[in-house]
Amino acid sequence: MIVSMRPKSTENEVNGVLEKLESLGFQHHISRGVERTVIGVIGKIYPDLKDTLELMPGVVEVVRLSRPFKLSSREFHPDDTVVRVGDVTIGGAERVVMAGPCAVESREQLMETAQAVKEAGAHILRGGAYKPRTSPYSFRGLGEDGLEMLAEAREKTGLPIITEVMTPADVGLVSQYADILQIGARNMQNYILLDEVGKVDVPVMLKRGMSATIEEWLLAAEYVLAQGNQNLILCERGIRTFETYTRNTLDLSAIPVIKKLSHLPVIVDPSHATGKWYLVAPMALAAAAAGADGVMVEVHITPEDALCDGAQALTVDNFRLLMGQLSTIQKPLQQATL
Ligand code: PEP
Ligand code: MN
Repeated sequence: MIVSMRPKSTENEVNGVLEKLESLGFQHHISRGVERTVIGVIGKIYPDLKDTLELMPGVVEVVRLSRPFKLSSREFHPDDTVVRVGDVTIGGAERVVMAGPCAVESREQLMETAQAVKEAGAHILRGGAYKPRTSPYSFRGLGEDGLEMLAEAREKTGLPIITEVMTPADVGLVSQYADILQIGARNMQNYILLDEVGKVDVPVMLKRGMSATIEEWLLAAEYVLAQGNQNLILCERGIRTFETYTRNTLDLSAIPVIKKLSHLPVIVDPSHATGKWYLVAPMALAAAAAGADGVMVEVHITPEDALCDGAQALTVDNFRLLMGQLSTIQKPLQQATL
């Protein structure tokens, strides 16, 4: 249930509603937008509650939400969420580019790639230190050594870093290094992990599970938000379909759907969505045209030597080309549709 306060409602009026909810045993989340304050009510709603709350001073409307996700919904938070990471904003007027290798493989590989993507205009450096691999015999990342290298690359280039955390036990450690914690597609429904990243003060990027519906994805987002972490970004990375030519099928329509249903920024990862390097640029450009808040692409200095996902990695030259092409596409104006 959502309680909308009238524009310019007073602190006393807002507190009156919060106290009433507490006295009735409900949890609440407050969203103070540019236009108005909205209070999300969590708990077992009974029919008379709407009438009770609508009688309170400052309340204009009480709406029961039929959707199962609440805190991630536009009804609860009509303005776009803008996540700030250093000087970079995600979800605002600018479009961000996150780039870097699939995995941190060595100091040289990471420093060279970081420098190259920085020079080409990337805003955030990506690189996995803990890699979720389909086969346990594949390269699974350098662990904390990889995190150290990422921190050094940040120091050298000034680029904030995004890296994956795979287990609840690692959240504390990875949070000491990362500017954004990535939750990978395979862990989208690891609810204990989602709870943990919801408790830290580091932005989170939640990738869509490869077989997850948009509703399941937003319910996963709800776990993070419900624990208090509001700096959440979504990432569409392709879903499983019957098509086998591409690694996954990029669900471009998820971008405007998310924009309609939610206030959260959405990034598109055309690398994992396609699995083929020559499909990365066309899909990145399509994502930009469809209103994505940014893209995340894998770049390798020598893709043929990559320990992970070489087939989908852009060379530095091709990444530079993509940056030029992306700059020709304006970020479409979002419509906050209710
Ligand atoms: C990644 O970005 O490194 C990754 C493993 O992607 P996904 O979780 O989308 O498969
Ligand atoms: Mn990868």
